[in-house]
Amino acid sequence: MFEKILIANRGEIALRIQRACREMGIKTVAVHSTADSDAMHVRMADESVCIGPPSSTDSYLSIPSIISACEISGADAIHPGYGFLSENANFSQIIEDHGLTFIGPSAEHINVMGDKIAAKETMKALGVPCVPGSDGGVTDLAEARRVGEEIGYPVIVKAAAGGGGRGMKVARDASEMDVAFQSARSEAKAAFGDDAVYIEKYLEKPRHIEVQVFGDGKGKAVHLGERDCSLQRRHQKVFEEAPSPVIDAETRARIGKTCADAVARINYIGAGTIEFLFENGEFYFIEMNTRLQVEHPVTEAIFGVDLVREQIRVAAGLPLSWTQDELVPQGHAIECRINAEALPSFRPSPGKVTMFHAPGGLGVRMDSAIYAGYSIPPYYDSLIGKLIVHGRDRQEALARLSRALDEVVVEGVDTTLPLFAALLEAEAVQTGNYTIHWLENWLDSQG
Ligand code: ADP
Repeated sequence: MFEKILIANRGEIALRIQRACREMGIKTVAVHSTADSDAMHVRMADESVCIGPPSSTDSYLSIPSIISACEISGADAIHPGYGFLSENANFSQIIEDHGLTFIGPSAEHINVMGDKIAAKETMKALGVPCVPGSDGGVTDLAEARRVGEEIGYPVIVKAAAGGGGRGMKVARDASEMDVAFQSARSEAKAAFGDDAVYIEKYLEKPRHIEVQVFGDGKGKAVHLGERDCSLQRRHQKVFEEAPSPVIDAETRARIGKTCADAVARINYIGAGTIEFLFENGEFYFIEMNTRLQVEHPVTEAIFGVDLVREQIRVAAGLPLSWTQDELVPQGHAIECRINAEALPSFRPSPGKVTMFHAPGGLGVRMDSAIYAGYSIPPYYDSLIGKLIVHGRDRQEALARLSRALDEVVVEGVDTTLPLFAALLEAEAVQTGNYTIHWLENWLDSQG
């Protein structure tokens, strides 16, 4: 087992990884920018190394600085968390080239899944159902028009290098194709430095359902059911639950097996998420994330497992801790992403937290790195905490969420907490009857 792990991240996820390391008796090294000297992940680590100025490009994204920090501290493995360098194949390769261990999949798998065109081709060949669309990339407008006619409007033009909901444009009919195609390409170029795009059928009322998988890198893999992340704003998840209110045990076992078999066949190692749109009882693959997801705690809650611990174990060469039969979900879990943002504009609201009180009690988990007196820096994303509740069933989880939301206190900055209290009043949230478009429409209706 590793003796010391460097955590190449910040915020709540850096703390989350430290917790798993502590319980496993592994020492931790925090890295931080000058803006994060007072951050909780720095205070709680065994050691810390400053890796640069506030801008992420010069700190949390700086591969040479992170590798140097690893060598100075003598860490033998690096956990990338999510975001930042977590899906950077070059980073994973450089770590391995230095004789260190990257806690995540191989550079090859990160590469394939990071290119959404290659990912779709790979998954299709592995028997995973995909959204109908262009065969590979589309490079000129004439071809885009032809594909649009072929698969039928509406269609969505998507960036091959896409992520974070950027570089996606819908064309409702042929007249909208020119603008959708050109603007998706230029947005992709600006955001990812790569203007490759592909085209998919635009699904009108799907849910976003993703399957958690775990591979040992030697041809074995299991799945840990699904998460329903249909409540989204600008293609970004806001509220997630597991299990999905619309997936039964038989469907879960079937899609889960398809996903586990697919990653087993490519000798995938570590945690991964296979994302689908789900409409009229059919699954359509959209992408695979080769890392731990923000919303992993809802899966941990219903399966009673520690996914970070498992990531560390398989990276160290140990076999999977569970067989498929041992993985039986219990009850229902919900997560709310709490951002330091002002409603209704969702404008970032950095600044000093004057008071913080976390909720507690049975079935309540709050993963956060803020504390009273902490100043949220303006340089990074606005997630300040995740509230996760677990109940025996969905009704109990909803009641517990409502109760826990009443308990949280964050003063000094604006947060999205009031959004969740209001959301819980909505009938669609109470019944679980919503699609990926529901939240945007509901927000519009709230004015
Ligand atoms: P990203 O990598 O930017 O997160 P994804 O491919 O995972 O992009 O898609 C993010 C979200 O965009 C989905 O959860 C869904 O809400 C929407 N979306 C993506 N593809 C389609 C599609 N073919 N039809 C309808 N909505 C889509």
